[in-house]
Amino acid sequence: MELLSGEHVVSHIENECMKSMKQIGDLGLKPPHIHVFQFGNDPSSSQYVKRIARNCQRFGIKFDHMHYIKDKDEFCRTLMASCNNSEISAVMVQQPLPKDLMFCVDYIPFVKDVEGVTTVSMGRLFKGEPALAPCTAEAVMEILDFYDISLEGKKVAIVGRSNIVGKPLTMMLLDRNATVKVCHSKTKYLSAELKIFEIIIVAIGKANFISTDSVNPHSIVIDVGTNYTESNRLVGDVNFDKVRHRVSRITPVPGGVGLVTNIMLIKNIINAYKFQHPELDDEDEE
Ligand code: NAP
Repeated sequence: MELLSGEHVVSHIENECMKSMKQIGDLGLKPPHIHVFQFGNDPSSSQYVKRIARNCQRFGIKFDHMHYIKDKDEFCRTLMASCNNSEISAVMVQQPLPKDLMFCVDYIPFVKDVEGVTTVSMGRLFKGEPALAPCTAEAVMEILDFYDISLEGKKVAIVGRSNIVGKPLTMMLLDRNATVKVCHSKTKYLSAELKIFEIIIVAIGKANFISTDSVNPHSIVIDVGTNYTESNRLVGDVNFDKVRHRVSRITPVPGGVGLVTNIMLIKNIINAYKFQHPELDDEDEE
């Protein structure tokens, strides 16, 4: 069994991002600038914003936390202003967001939508047009590419059909000529279905749910899940300890998809900037 560690993928992406930032500096351009909007005081959201701020600082990306506690009108007005401000290259809105503010997310133009969550970004992904995709879906694709796992003609099963993982991944994999099956909570005989697939991607949010009866010795398993057990241990949706001995390759949790997802936001901020600066080419990318 080969472990598909996220660490090597992260180093590779960090190098790419550093090179892009150097290219931006060498051309005398202003650095990318992100506005992160938050409404309310959800603690995990606040923690995530702090992590984004630290990461942006590390790469020389300008960062502002646009934090609103009560004034919904002001939140919407400022968000609209950031979306229309050519000095701001990236905009994201933290979840959770009150239901009556959800419509604001679609203010974000697709070229600044670093989380790939607007209706336009998703529509463009669906049509195979250039767009930024949700970071977790991008992270899975980065892992597959980094480890040279070819997709063309491959049978891939995705378990989970959320808007941020399963659905965008379906489009991205189809675009790469994989044959994709999407499974969900109503799929019958899930284990038997999964067993025949060459690549199995799991994003369901159920600790250790996928076990040895779902895999074969050639399976490549990508575990997106992040769950905490009663003893506060972080585990995936796949029972890693059992499954690792029965497959050809598998991502660990922690240290797999989650690790790569964090750095994907930086890559998406830079890619958003590139959308807005066609003078930056991809010469620096491999
Ligand atoms: P979600 O929106 O809750 O969607 C869960 C999906 O799993 C749904 O499509 C659901 O089916 C399906 N599902 C639930 N129970 C199932 C079962 N027993 N058999 C088959 N399918 C089942 O979840 P999400 O936001 O995509 O997140 C999924 C997991 O990924 C979570 O553990 C989350 O923490 C993790 N995650 C990790 C990262 C990261 O960076 N590593 C990022 C995002 C999410 P229905 O549609 O039929 O309800």
